Amino acid sequence: MKYRDFGATGEKISALGFGCMRLPEYQENETWYIDEDKAQDMLCTAYELGVNYFDTAPYYCNHNSEAALGKAVKPFRDKILLSTKLPSENCHERGDFRRFLEGSLKKLDTEYIDFYHFWATNRDKFDNYILKYDLLEEAAKAKEEGLIRHISFSFHDDPSVIRYIIETAKEHGVPMESMLVQYNLIDRSNEEMLAYAHENGLGTVAMGPVGGGRLAAPTDLYSRLTGKPPIATYELAFKFVLGNPSLNCALSGMQTLEMVKSNTAIADDAAMSEEEWKNLGDAMEQLKKFSELYCTGCKYCQPCPAGIEIPDIFNLYTQYNVYGLKEHSRNAYKKLTEDGKKTIHDCLNCGMCEKKCPQHLNIREELKRVDNILLGQK
Ligand code: SF4
Ligand code: SF4
Repeated sequence: MKYRDFGATGEKISALGFGCMRLPEYQENETWYIDEDKAQDMLCTAYELGVNYFDTAPYYCNHNSEAALGKAVKPFRDKILLSTKLPSENCHERGDFRRFLEGSLKKLDTEYIDFYHFWATNRDKFDNYILKYDLLEEAAKAKEEGLIRHISFSFHDDPSVIRYIIETAKEHGVPMESMLVQYNLIDRSNEEMLAYAHENGLGTVAMGPVGGGRLAAPTDLYSRLTGKPPIATYELAFKFVLGNPSLNCALSGMQTLEMVKSNTAIADDAAMSEEEWKNLGDAMEQLKKFSELYCTGCKYCQPCPAGIEIPDIFNLYTQYNVYGLKEHSRNAYKKLTEDGKKTIHDCLNCGMCEKKCPQHLNIREELKRVDNILLGQK
């Protein structure tokens, strides 16, 4: 296993992290349980193969993940880094921080948490819970008492909000020490902010390194880009994420022992060099640019009065057309229509989107074409 400096935290983190949101479960009398034998085997094997970063959260696996993780890692607790999270939107007074923290310490059966995250932070949670209820100050206090070792956040919002969080926390005298964000080969929207966080001394962890399973499906992407013999897209996705010099760890939500073994083998293998990583990223962008529908995802066309999420639909088409993830894109578009999301069939023909699109896309025509293709009628 390869280890990297985890920002300026002074910790060394394994290139592969274990995300404990998909541990094996079973149901009995309408209650869910974790299959502890299997989970323990997976977690211990990961540790033996060099993984030292284990990430969980209070609500993962029907609220059972923290306890199962704590139990499995007990024999080697002091050799690893444990990460869990605070649901800040459920804090309505300052004392709630301590209540949740104590709950996690108890379930994890540990005296301290190495990385305690403000969970799924966005601008609203940061302003209206974390700042409003002085949760940063509470975190600093818990750190002073040795209950947590590092203060962190996980993130789901527009990338620009990352800078705001890092700067504001610093102004409050409680700097963020690491962050966990979505990042993979086909969703690179956080790339610039990863570099920013890295430059500012934060440790960086990527969730969804294989694109939430999208890149598990085979494509001829690697061969098309490099002219080399194909490798599993899954493997390419890992190598790409780990090749980013601003990224310290790829967190994978492993579900089986086989996944643990194959992911550790990939992480053991050389990641891409920085140059290869850059070339592959550029090649992906070029490929996208030369596709007949080049939507940059800038969102200037939003909001659409009919509620059509145009960039999301075009992004699905890019995945279909450019990255060759045909089946995934079709299924995702079908699901979107089944979930009642708006499509070209709801268009009011106001033309506002086309006036605002810097790529001068003929959006209505393209939406129609994409609809036909993804619904398999063409
Ligand atoms: S033309 Fe249709 S897709 Fe474009 S903004 Fe108007 S309603 Fe939305
Ligand atoms: S404005 Fe154009 S390029 Fe930007 S997201 Fe909308 S369709 Fe894509």
